[in-house]
This record gives sequence, C-alpha cells and structure tokens, in this order.
Amino acid sequence: MSKSKVLVVGGTGYIGKRIVKASLAQGHPTYVLMRRELGYEIEKVQMLLSFKQQGAQLIEGSFDDHQSLVDAVKQVDVVICTMSGVQFRSHNILLQLKLVDAIKEAGNIKRFLPSEFGIDPSRMGHTLIDYGNETFTDKMVVRKAIEDAKIPHTYISANCLAGYFVGNLSQLNNSLLPPKHRVSIYGDGNCKAVFLDEDDVATYTIMTIDDPRMLNKTLYLRPRKNILTHNQLVEKWEKLSDQKLEKLHISAQDFLASMKGVDDSAFQAALARIYHIYYEGCLMNFEITEGGEEATMLYPQVRYTLMDEYLQRYL
Ligand code: NDP
Repeated sequence: MSKSKVLVVGGTGYIGKRIVKASLAQGHPTYVLMRRELGYEIEKVQMLLSFKQQGAQLIEGSFDDHQSLVDAVKQVDVVICTMSGVQFRSHNILLQLKLVDAIKEAGNIKRFLPSEFGIDPSRMGHTLIDYGNETFTDKMVVRKAIEDAKIPHTYISANCLAGYFVGNLSQLNNSLLPPKHRVSIYGDGNCKAVFLDEDDVATYTIMTIDDPRMLNKTLYLRPRKNILTHNQLVEKWEKLSDQKLEKLHISAQDFLASMKGVDDSAFQAALARIYHIYYEGCLMNFEITEGGEEATMLYPQVRYTLMDEYLQRYL
C-alpha cells in the first residue's frame, strides 16, 4: 500500500515541526502549509525552507482565504493540524473550524487529525475548576464540527509533554528548567501522570494515519515506564543530578486557595492543568474503552524515550 500524502497545518510550531520530521522519516509525501501572513518571521520562514530541503513540499495558503485551504487540502490524503493551543503562547484552536469547512468542501480527505495532543477534552466536562477550560471546550467544538461533517478522524491524547512537565519537574515558577534547591510537591505526590518525549508523540501520531484500527478513534499515549507519580519524577532527577531537593508539599486546599489571587488567565490555566493532573489524576483515572486504543499496545515496535533519558539533557 502506498503511503498517504500528509499536509501539516501549523508545521512551524512546537509539536508541528516534529510531526513534519516524523512524517518524512516514515516515508510519507509531506506537505506543509506556508501562511502568507508570516511576514518577517524569519525563524519560521527559514524553518519552512529547511523542511523543503529535507524533502517536504510547501503549499502557500491562508486561513483568511477559504479557497486556498480547499486547494491545499485537495492535494493530499491526510491533514494533521497542530494549531497553537496553549494560553500563554497564542490560543487559536477555533480557527480550525475554517480548516474543517475546507476539508468538508474538498471531500477527499481520508483522515483528519485536529490539534489535540493533550488531555482528552471529552473527559474534562465536569471538572470543578473553570480556569483554562476554553482549551477543552474549543477542542470539543472542533470535534463536533468534524463528526457532524462525517470527516474520518483520529484524536491524539498525548498526556504531559516532557518539555513542559518534566524538565522543570512540573514547577510553576516561570521556568522550564529544573529547580536548584527546593521543589513543590502536589499533595502527597503519589498521583499517577504520564510523560512523553515530543518526538515520540509525533512518531505515534504518524503511525495512526494509515492504520484502519485508528479510524474515528482516540489514541491514548500511556507508555508503561513513563507512568510516574510526581515523587517518582523528582526522584529520577535527584538521582541523575546527585542532589537532594527540599520538598514542600502543597495540599489541595492550599493550591486552590493560591489560584484565587491570580488574575493572569494564562497562569490560571497552567495552575488548573497542574490541579487536574496531580490532584484529580485526570490522565489515569479512566480505562480506555472501545472508542480508544493505547499507543504502545498498537505499536510495540517503537522504542519510546524514558524520562531519565529525557532528563539527561538538563544536567
Ligand atoms: P504553537 O504555539 O507552537 O503553534 C503552532 C502553530 O500554530 C504555529 O507555529 C503556527 O503555525 C500556527 N498558528 C499560530 N497562530 C496562528 C494563527 N493566528 N493563524 C494560523 N496559524 C497559527 O502550538 P503547540 O505546538 O504548542 O500546540 C499544538 C497542540 O498541542 C495544541 O492543541 C496544544 O493544546 C497541544 N499542547 C499539548 C501539550 C501537552 O503537554 N500535552 C503542551 C503544548 C501544547 P504556522 O505559522 O506554521 O502556520
């Protein structure tokens, strides 16, 4: 079977650039949307040119020009969108509705993967914390549009990406680097979370696109050795760095109280994410049912990165 042609929309982003790399590595004819609006964003333009040097094709288009999106979509079989979805960068998830309209009109797409790559939004409807929930509600609006239009799809639930959650041991101190002396531990630190190397997320994502087992399903990334408690994550760093950190346990009540005084919505959203993951245990508090599959079970041939390996780069 020949490999599907893939269009990546949002290819210069944190996840997007890895999706482009994985798509090329797995031998897919790979296309990347090049937005006219990039203007003088030299880093992005040069990244796009480097994709071309690596074998990708650039397709010019704009979210303000519906026909350009339809024309782009018509050239491929699969569309993967990695549109920005983090509050403190730029949150644009709903822009994808324009892409959904284009895919609907083009009518040729065999699989669409919208910008998800995090906590499964369908499981976050009844959380008590309302900060930062627009990411979940917007992702659900996009899912509804996809499903209403009967577009074949796959959703990727990637859990905690290591660059945000592992390098800084999930601290909320405006840094992505490991803390030097003390570390906040959420609750008793024993709630299970799941951590992923971003490149592994991209590898698993590309493996789904021609896989009939993943049609209209959610792929949950739960590599067994990367299911760790906060305590275990901190211990890994202490062992690697050969340094003990002072632990400050924060009760759920104190954590919630600390959220009240915050008026920066991006920071509120980050706090809420930590609360969902480390106090509510939202990543591992459900079984995967028939609408989902687990990545390492479907693709045991992938050698995923362990978090001690990931942390080496911070030494
Ligand atoms: P980025 O912030 O890196 O942005 C991705 C791309 O979106 C940009 O490079 C740009 O692509 C495109 N974009 C941004 N603004 C616009 C706009 N106004 N119009 C059109 N395109 C725009 O995104 P991330 O990679 O951080 O996020 C991708 C997904 O991953 C999101 O759904 C997010 O929620 C999720 N995520 C999950 C994390 C986790 O820990 N599980 C952590 C971080 C993100 P271009 O200029 O190339 O068109």
